[in-house]
Amino acid sequence: MTPKAALERYYGYDDFRDQQEEIIDHLVSGDDAVVLMPTGGGKSLCYQIPAIVRGGTGIVISPLIALMHDQVDALNVIGVRAAYLNSSQTRQEQYKVEEQYRNGELDLLYVAPERLALDPVQRLIDSSPVALFAIDEAHCVSQWGHDFRPDYLQLAMLAERWPDVPRIALTATATAETKSEIISKLQLNQAKQFVSSFDRPNIQYRIENKNNPRQQLLSFIKSEHPEDAGIVYALSRNSVDKYAQFLRENDINAVAYHAGMDSGERWKAQEKFLREEGVVVVATIAFGMGIDKPDVRFVAHVDLPKSVEGYYQETGRAGRDGLPATAWMTYGLADVVNQRQMIDNSEADQARKQLMARNLNAMLALCETVDCRRVNLLSYFGEESGMCGNCDTCLTPPESWDGTVAAQKLLSTVYRLDRERDQHFGAGQTIDILLGKKTEKVANNRHDQLSTWGIGQDISETDWRAVTRQLLAANLLTVDQYGALWLTDASAAVLQGERELRLRIDPTPKKAMKKPKVAKAAVAIDLTDDDRELFEKLRSWRRQRALDDDVPAYIVFSDATLRELATHRPADSEQLTNINGIGAKKLETYGREVLEVIGANEI
Ligand code: ADP
Ligand code: ZN
Repeated sequence: MTPKAALERYYGYDDFRDQQEEIIDHLVSGDDAVVLMPTGGGKSLCYQIPAIVRGGTGIVISPLIALMHDQVDALNVIGVRAAYLNSSQTRQEQYKVEEQYRNGELDLLYVAPERLALDPVQRLIDSSPVALFAIDEAHCVSQWGHDFRPDYLQLAMLAERWPDVPRIALTATATAETKSEIISKLQLNQAKQFVSSFDRPNIQYRIENKNNPRQQLLSFIKSEHPEDAGIVYALSRNSVDKYAQFLRENDINAVAYHAGMDSGERWKAQEKFLREEGVVVVATIAFGMGIDKPDVRFVAHVDLPKSVEGYYQETGRAGRDGLPATAWMTYGLADVVNQRQMIDNSEADQARKQLMARNLNAMLALCETVDCRRVNLLSYFGEESGMCGNCDTCLTPPESWDGTVAAQKLLSTVYRLDRERDQHFGAGQTIDILLGKKTEKVANNRHDQLSTWGIGQDISETDWRAVTRQLLAANLLTVDQYGALWLTDASAAVLQGERELRLRIDPTPKKAMKKPKVAKAAVAIDLTDDDRELFEKLRSWRRQRALDDDVPAYIVFSDATLRELATHRPADSEQLTNINGIGAKKLETYGREVLEVIGANEI
């Protein structure tokens, strides 16, 4: 079978995307590859199709045992012979899979990295021809990265133990450092590199000033993504629990997920998110890697992520199906203060702290930019692009103002507290001084005697918080471990009038739109009334069918396929095969029922 024939027959797709065909041909001819492609780019086909086409079994190394089951189900549903081996299985189950492997009855076998080091597993692999090794989530070898897995380091032995078997390493992490670590640690120096564009044009990036984050999040979800599946990322377990509860109290089907929960509860939360429709999971960054759910419609951050790399991975989990999705974040002064303090207080060595500070600075630059967010993001990954038209700064360009004098007032307050009083205070007290507030703390410290007392009454407290935040973000101010403000080496230039400052005016967040009368999934919002009605019918059929078969709904059909069905209304099985995502096996399994829902003549 040719790769193209496999694409049509199993996956039901007409054409390869971008570099898929090149990568597949490269592997089919027995060569190694390193593939950098964004989430949703279509990495899985790059090793699945060569494994189907080449003789022998493709061995897939994947770090997440909990997700292997669904990955294998998704393949079986399209008629690919796949199985997995991991510690969640009984000995009998494992034995059965081993038999299938020895008899050459598997196209793909998923294994966890730690198992490959085991002698019996290596002997098993030797007992039957291997088509290829695919190392998924290959950035897990990177010790400096955000998902380091020690077991990945030993995968270098694949090259020594099976020198003739082609290997492909895949990741959605795009930095040059990660790439070179993958190449050196996995002994892939000879491998051809395939680097795709990391743009995800269907994701709309938005960063909003934080004032009442819970309400902001709620109105974002209610007005734009009612009934949609989404992920909300928060930094601490405690805030994960609080946000999840708050959303539930407001009629959103939300579950919490963090490392403090026991594994059974975590598994339940993940299953609910994968299997039911429209579930919102509130999680720490422990959640998400390897989650293949294609119809996540939004990813929200209620705390500032620690690096652009992490942020891009997390937001990339939205809209893998290519349909419109939103990456939304609230961010404010407290985030900057907390993270600067966290770095200061961390036990890490100096080199690591510097790296953390660099990562944070890049993240802050993204938050404070007045230019296109996407241009900023992609340039972080070394990619040039033009204004995208699908981010908040493109859609409503933020205005800026000359903040030089305001900055001088604030910096000189910090300066005077230090020089005249040998004192350092947090943002709150500093702003109270500027506004000339007569609080007890002001009276006790005689701060009303300072020459900067009350000189900032021309702008509001909110404005002062925005000024402080932007000075912190630009490293013109810094905080100590108590959250008190200090000048930096760069402050002098502003104080002495040698440097002008343009500051961003934070747009006021939109008032919540009224809830639509009937909450409808956002993916179908642009369809005609008739088509949307059919889309909803197909969706409820899919829900039932997924329950009956005990698989996640997206394994039956993706939203993208349902949309095509609703708009094209195929009349017979011939026309059904022209729909993207319907291959031979799905036609056989679901064709009749789908035609029935559509009300076609031929049933
Ligand atoms: P990744 O692993 O890179 O995040 P996936 O392999 O999960 O991406 O693919 C993302 C989505 O795109 C899946 O729903 C997949 O079926 C779909 N897809 C992949 N390749 C194609 C293609 N050539 N044509 C249409 N859809 C595709
Ligand atoms: Zn833009």
